Amino acid sequence: MLKPNAIILHKTRPQVQQEIQACIGCNECLIACPAVAEPITIDVLNRETQNGPISGPVSRFARACYQCGACVAPCPVGLHRDAMMLWLKIRLLDSQEEE
Ligand code: SF4
Ligand code: SF4
Repeated sequence: MLKPNAIILHKTRPQVQQEIQACIGCNECLIACPAVAEPITIDVLNRETQNGPISGPVSRFARACYQCGACVAPCPVGLHRDAMMLWLKIRLLDSQEEE
C-alpha cells in the first residue's frame, strides 16, 4: 500500500503528450540531469519519446534515467521530464520486444 505522502510519477500517455507539446525546448531539464552522458537535443528527445525509431543516444539516456526527479524543479513551465522519461522507457521496452 502507498504511503500517504508517496509521490506518484505515472502519467497517462495523453498527459505525457500534452506535456511534450507544452515544452518550450529551454533545455533546463537536461542541464539539471545527472544521467546525461552524451549530447541530446530536446527536440529529438521529445519526438522519440512519442513515436518513431529511438536513436542510440536517446535509448542510452532512457536506460540511464533513474527517476531521481532533478529535472522537474528547473522546468520554467512546470513539466515533468521524469514522467516523460518513464514513457520513453516503456517505448524502449516495447520496441525491444518487437525485435
Ligand atoms: S529523473 Fe531521469 S531525466 Fe530526470 S534528472 Fe533524474 S535521471 Fe535525469
Ligand atoms: S525544462 Fe521543461 S520546458 Fe524546458 S526543455 Fe525541459 S521539459 Fe521542456
